[in-house]
Amino acid sequence: MFLRSISIRGFKSFANKSVIKLEPGVTTIVGPNGSGKSNIVDAVLWVLGEQRPKSLRGSTMQDIIFSGSNIKQSLGLAEVTLRLDNNDGAIPIEYNEITITRRAYRSGENEYFLNNTPCRLLDIQEMLSDSGLGREMYSVISQGKLDNILNCKPEARRQLIEGTAGVLKHKERKKRALRKLIATDKNIVRISDILSEI
Ligand code: ATP
Repeated sequence: MFLRSISIRGFKSFANKSVIKLEPGVTTIVGPNGSGKSNIVDAVLWVLGEQRPKSLRGSTMQDIIFSGSNIKQSLGLAEVTLRLDNNDGAIPIEYNEITITRRAYRSGENEYFLNNTPCRLLDIQEMLSDSGLGREMYSVISQGKLDNILNCKPEARRQLIEGTAGVLKHKERKKRALRKLIATDKNIVRISDILSEI
């Protein structure tokens, strides 16, 4: 699997649609300070489902939408698409090419698409969970993160190792299953109440 392209529109400093095409191997992006290099990394994290403004170097999630410049008005939405080559079947679905899109509006609404079909964030996370690509999988090490990793506390280091080893996704599944069990327990209590009432 490799990342074929990143399309960015309305995200941070990318007011107009920009498509960054990548080839297998190492790609380096060079540019002066403040030209938007890290914004590209933020865009990748964001499309993979990042929900914490701080991880995207902002204070609110609205900060990721282009806020205007001297020559261009602010925009109402941000959209990022990753195009992944899946010829090696690293992602267990029957597509040789997969596109993942996230769109956000100033109202706070977010939309996710898999191959242009609307889906839930959970669908994207589940699909990527076996591939090593994902928000918590350290496939993206953004600015400042390396220092955090080197200096982090043992608990945080454990999380990092678990994330990389793929244990985290099972922990997430366990959490979701436990939440469902608790909800089911509550329903059973409610049913007992109704039964005894009747
Ligand atoms: P450095 O080399 O200093 O780390 P960089 O090339 O990584 O810089 P970024 O941090 O990616 O640069 O980009 C910073 C630029 O993005 C700033 O000019 C900032 O004004 C702009 N920017 C960030 N968010 C928005 C936004 N919502 N709307 C418009 N511009 C934005």
